Amino acid sequence: MTAPVVEQPTDWTEPGAHPVAPGVHRIPLALPIPSLHAVNVYVIEDDEGLVVVDSGWAMPDTRTSLEGALAALGHRLDDVAQFLVTHAHWDHYSQALALRESFGTRVRIGRGERPSIEAFDVHLGLHPRQVELLRRCGADALADEIAGRPVDRSERDVPHTMPDAWLDDGERIALADRGLDVFATPGHTRGHIVLRDAAAGLLFSGDHILPHITPSIGLETEPEPKPLRSYLESLRLVREMPDTVLLPAHGPVRPSVHIRIDELLEHHAERLDVAAEQVRAGHGTAFEVAAAMRWTRRRRSLDDLDAFSRMLAVLEIEAHLDVLADRGVLDSHEEGGVRRYAVRR
Ligand SMILES: [Zn+2]
Repeated sequence: MTAPVVEQPTDWTEPGAHPVAPGVHRIPLALPIPSLHAVNVYVIEDDEGLVVVDSGWAMPDTRTSLEGALAALGHRLDDVAQFLVTHAHWDHYSQALALRESFGTRVRIGRGERPSIEAFDVHLGLHPRQVELLRRCGADALADEIAGRPVDRSERDVPHTMPDAWLDDGERIALADRGLDVFATPGHTRGHIVLRDAAAGLLFSGDHILPHITPSIGLETEPEPKPLRSYLESLRLVREMPDTVLLPAHGPVRPSVHIRIDELLEHHAERLDVAAEQVRAGHGTAFEVAAAMRWTRRRRSLDDLDAFSRMLAVLEIEAHLDVLADRGVLDSHEEGGVRRYAVRR
């Protein structure tokens, strides 16, 4: 049995502080990326001060919104004792760093994010490793297009530095009124973590498990070699825990983590089947397979997507093909810097 979800507004992006459980409030904050709508920040009221899970994108507007939502609960920004951040993407991490500059708030994030935080260099562009990976996928023209893209203002002007301390897999964060267990869930990023409050039946899932979208994998400064394999393992890890309420970083609160994990696992199983089918039909690179597939719920062709979405699509297919190679369904080898796949005989 999972805990009942406290009534939520129909539109999950509605500003303000929405209670989700005793002492826990969800605060949606705006983003400079319209397609994601908003990011949920969760405020936990504890005797030793406020603990906030994720923090929003560092922008003057979101700071004001967070301040206003906290004020409605009778708190101020400097009441936040610590930020626990699920991963190093701007929408989760950057506002915590900005508020640390103002108030000295303690900021913690998963240890596995260290390589990407260290490697980030605004002068190398936003997706330097992804450009190399696209070439390996046989997508040279797209790699050139991505490499030529300037880093957007909203991404250039945000703080991106080290936390005060790391969060480790298996660690228990003992607060005055509750315990939060940290689980490493690599995949969306290599250092992604989720926080579980077993007694209250809550999972702060970050972007590991989202109710409406399939999380992207490996979109970070220093991606790991097999992000989809890690992601699927991380989904199974959480699926083995007793079911709880899903508190996602984007989208509405849902009563069951298990139901959504089953949907995500099924989605990837289908995509793996379709990718294998395309290799059987003679498509040999991740780019060729992606171009032969249909994308988004509207079943659009790859060419109809913007450059960023095409990048995500091609890299996701490469990740699927690599999982198929791991499982012995496909063979892969590199030729002239391009990874080629064939059905194993
Ligand atoms: Zn996010």
